[in-house]
Amino acid sequence: MSRVRLFVRDARSILTPTGGYLSGFSHTLQPYSGCEFACAYCYVRQMAPQRTAPEGLAWSTWLAPKRNAPELLAREAERGRLGPARIFCSSVTDPYTPLERRLGLTRGCLEVMARCPPAALVLQTRSPLVVRDAELLARIPSALVSMTVATGDEAVRRALEPNAPGTGLRIEALGRLREAGVRTQAAVAPLLPGDPRQLARRLAPVVDRVVVDDFFLGDGAGGRRSRAALERLRSLGFGDWAEPGYAEESIAIFREELTPERVVVSQAGFNDLEWLTHGQDLRRDQ
Ligand code: SF4
Repeated sequence: MSRVRLFVRDARSILTPTGGYLSGFSHTLQPYSGCEFACAYCYVRQMAPQRTAPEGLAWSTWLAPKRNAPELLAREAERGRLGPARIFCSSVTDPYTPLERRLGLTRGCLEVMARCPPAALVLQTRSPLVVRDAELLARIPSALVSMTVATGDEAVRRALEPNAPGTGLRIEALGRLREAGVRTQAAVAPLLPGDPRQLARRLAPVVDRVVVDDFFLGDGAGGRRSRAALERLRSLGFGDWAEPGYAEESIAIFREELTPERVVVSQAGFNDLEWLTHGQDLRRDQ
């Protein structure tokens, strides 16, 4: 049974023009407002969706599915606005929040995109449920599944992402997507305490590339996100791990294990879509 209160509604639009941190993308797509995963470091707690939360409910206790999301996207396709779009799905929710299994709104949007592929599509998630849609994703040439794997340490993961699926399940999902012909990325973001070499070795066989981001590198939120997230980490007893040099050292280890071409960093890395839109195969030397 879901832990959240549901507020199903119709949205007025589904493709939101974007920029800022996501400067490489033209639009975000959020099939849901709110999120069930309750990550301790979640920056959305300070953003618009939570400021206008239904009945003033706390973050991760409510979810507002946009039941007409697929219809709105189909309308954008008919108007010729979907084909040129470079879409990030999603920036302020997880498109595979547990209720997606029942509601299928993200899947409905993918069905539209399989018929009318956008110029780029990055699906950012923490859930192995994305494997359900592997066949659809394989039909969208510019699709990339970006799975957050912020640490290989399951105790850290449980403390900071209490409602999200386990790390092992996420890595297994990346492997299954890749077998199905879907391009994959691990988002080590935010970089959390753990053993970066061990994590890099687990990720190397299942991803095209890794993007590493921490709370300090290229913070597109002008420092607000860093401070809020670090305060939460500190309150949970994880305040001292972020020593100077930890991020740089971790990135160097990822580059050693995966080759420099397959490791990108922070904002520039998230927004580097050239290889995606031109179908470059980063695994050619493996
Ligand atoms: S999955 Fe993303 S939106 Fe959801 S709680 Fe975690 S960081 Fe926030």
